[in-house]
Amino acid sequence: MTIPSKKNILSRKVQEIPLSGIRKFFDLIAAKDDVISLGVGEPDFVTPWHIREAATYSIERGQTHYTSNFGLLELRREIALHLHNRYGVNYDPENEILVTVGVSEALDLAMRALLNPGDQVIGQEPSYVSYFPNVHLAGGTFVPVPTSMENGFHIDPQAIVERTTDATRALILASPNNPTGSVLPRSDLISIAEIAKDNDLVVISDEIYDRLTYDTEHTCFASLPGMQERTLLMGGFSKSYAMTGWRIGYVAGPAEIIEGMMKIHQYTVMSAPTAGQYAAIEALKNGEPDIIEMHDEYKRRRHLIVDKLKSIGLSCAEPEGAFYAFPSVEQTGLTSIEFAGKLLEEESVAVVPGSAFGESGEGHVRCCYAVSIHEIEEALDRMGRFVKNHSSNGR
Ligand code: PLP
Repeated sequence: MTIPSKKNILSRKVQEIPLSGIRKFFDLIAAKDDVISLGVGEPDFVTPWHIREAATYSIERGQTHYTSNFGLLELRREIALHLHNRYGVNYDPENEILVTVGVSEALDLAMRALLNPGDQVIGQEPSYVSYFPNVHLAGGTFVPVPTSMENGFHIDPQAIVERTTDATRALILASPNNPTGSVLPRSDLISIAEIAKDNDLVVISDEIYDRLTYDTEHTCFASLPGMQERTLLMGGFSKSYAMTGWRIGYVAGPAEIIEGMMKIHQYTVMSAPTAGQYAAIEALKNGEPDIIEMHDEYKRRRHLIVDKLKSIGLSCAEPEGAFYAFPSVEQTGLTSIEFAGKLLEEESVAVVPGSAFGESGEGHVRCCYAVSIHEIEEALDRMGRFVKNHSSNGR
């Protein structure tokens, strides 16, 4: 179907953002049989039964209506309790917590609530694919701080200082990080907190992978001295509870910003899915053993994938969190898009080109290890063969 208009029908902003490099790739995968996918960033586990059951009961009880725009008060209370018990931070469930359609919506709301045209948001790179489009669609400019494998993909606080201008409004941090798996050390976060204070910045702290760290403690940014009043703490259920399809997340922060975000939320989505909110209450009340079990399984898989990547000759920083390995493919002489494309074509293994996560992701591919041990072994055998065939140094 062609639109009968000579004008460009889409807004300039929409034309200026790319389709997600991840999604583009998945259209290719769908057309192929026998693919082992290390591509999609979601748990292979099904949501634990008692959580599904809680949602089913809510539907059976007829709890099928909109909830408060902020989300069910019972859920907000559980979130507040969880944040208090885990990180010692205190939020008022009445007006300092907003339940959102995943962290995805929280990110979009934050940018639209905070930014005026021309405002800048500094963020680490490689980073989650939404940050740049969210900032851009809100009229701002995303200012990347490149990180590299050599320093474990940790952001250098000094590099933030160097990029801070009068137009800088906010800082976005993701620890643990997608796609690199890096976890920012507490000492770096303390330095970043100083920078935020000195330059009067809001810190958007995407902590969706907070429960998935290995051998490293997660630091909740809002728990650092003086930070709660300038932090938007974002958390969710998708990753640690295997609840991607339920679309529930939350943001906790100063009432004034939360109210601004809620205004947009009430006019766009009204309230997060009701059955999903009941599921989230059950997850917070009784889901701890499930989190631990899944965490330990990811940890086993992480060891396996990192060992295997190294054994096939790809260097890889030890992922400290989330469920991604981000090896370098430079030695093959292929760009990350070529590597991913040819690997899919020749060996039916899907990985995501690092360039999808920003320029500094080039030279790497993202391998999600939230798949079975058997699939990791088979995928890495195939990748080993591929690397051997393509190594520019004749390995
Ligand atoms: N933030 C990061 C760093 C992610 O990796 C993802 C999903 O991959 C999201 C946010 C979005 O998560 P949600 O399912 O809660 O929208």
